[in-house]
Amino acid sequence: MPGRLLVSNAILALPGGLSRGDLLCEGPRIVAIGRKVESAGAAVFDAQGLTAGPGFIDVHVHGGGGHSFFRRDPDRIRAYSAWAPQNGLTSYLISTIGRDEDETAAIFESLAPTVAATPGAEPVGFHLEGPFINPLRKGAFDPAMLRAPRPWEFDRYQAAARGLIRQVTFAPELPDALELAAAIAASGALPAMGHTDATAEECRAGFEGGVKHVTHLFNAMRPIHQREGGPIVAALLEESVTCELICDGAHIAPEPLRLAYRVLGPHRAVVVTDNLHIAGTGSEGGQFAGQEVKVTGAKAERADGTIVGSVAPIDQHFRNVVEFLGLDLPTAFRLCATNPARVAGVQRSKGCLERGYDADVVFLDSDLAVAATLCRGEVAFNRDEWRLHPA
Ligand SMILES: [Zn+2]
Repeated sequence: MPGRLLVSNAILALPGGLSRGDLLCEGPRIVAIGRKVESAGAAVFDAQGLTAGPGFIDVHVHGGGGHSFFRRDPDRIRAYSAWAPQNGLTSYLISTIGRDEDETAAIFESLAPTVAATPGAEPVGFHLEGPFINPLRKGAFDPAMLRAPRPWEFDRYQAAARGLIRQVTFAPELPDALELAAAIAASGALPAMGHTDATAEECRAGFEGGVKHVTHLFNAMRPIHQREGGPIVAALLEESVTCELICDGAHIAPEPLRLAYRVLGPHRAVVVTDNLHIAGTGSEGGQFAGQEVKVTGAKAERADGTIVGSVAPIDQHFRNVVEFLGLDLPTAFRLCATNPARVAGVQRSKGCLERGYDADVVFLDSDLAVAATLCRGEVAFNRDEWRLHPA
């Protein structure tokens, strides 16, 4: 019989709201949730005083804890997966950037075996960001690596990744972008718009052509102008798309975040970190994409002021949405777990505390700090040793 773990006395963040109760895991799955659950012979995790919610899922993360996803090195994925549960993360898309074609294919080939086969926070697929993006909105990308969409090039990457690319960020206004969107969708991945200078009209063509998601809304895209709303207004108004929001407090100020959330609502907003490898390390800077970056507060910047990514781990983003948007905890879990699960295509097994779902659980104390994390029924992080009682 697989290992059983009873989570007792938790305040459970269930899809219907908060409820005090127990949760029983058997092997990697949740097998029972209720006021009092029968659990003879199970190990016990005493959650007294903690809120338990679905573990955080990050669909846009390039590394953390000193581990980068830009190398052909599966050990870095394993090291990140072991490190990230301390932030409440239980799954993620390995987000890598398109560069030299052979190198990009080689990265997918070498990292694909780690997907769904790594203990700790589970890599559930890949997010490919670029190279088919607009040089005018390149952010931290090396302009020499950018090119117009080539659907066959994406097909090569998807084959190298064993079909595990789940999200592709590209600019819909580029030539052949709609053919690319069709190739992405045909492969089972999500066409996402980002690093774009598209007009509202070009965005609408993109939505009709299959764009279903928007990569870091506000960042690396044409800003709002009253005579040309551009991608931000177009995305907010298009009810069929979900939108990523980097909620480190630095990439988007609290006011535009509130405005966006008021339009997006709890179903379309997806919190992402866009974390660099130096996230969560306390580092003051480092090398990113071949250039020196300096950390100021939550963000890492180049000497010219270009923001290259966030260094605040996902639990900080969770606390920020609670604070900046005034959300209750069940709603904050929708933004940080349930909605990202849909983007990653794992909504039938992750993103909710429900019977039959993966036992991916984060425990938060009254300061919303992470006290413990279960990844597929295993205790991957436990701040307070006294809570765990072996069978
Ligand atoms: Zn990114």
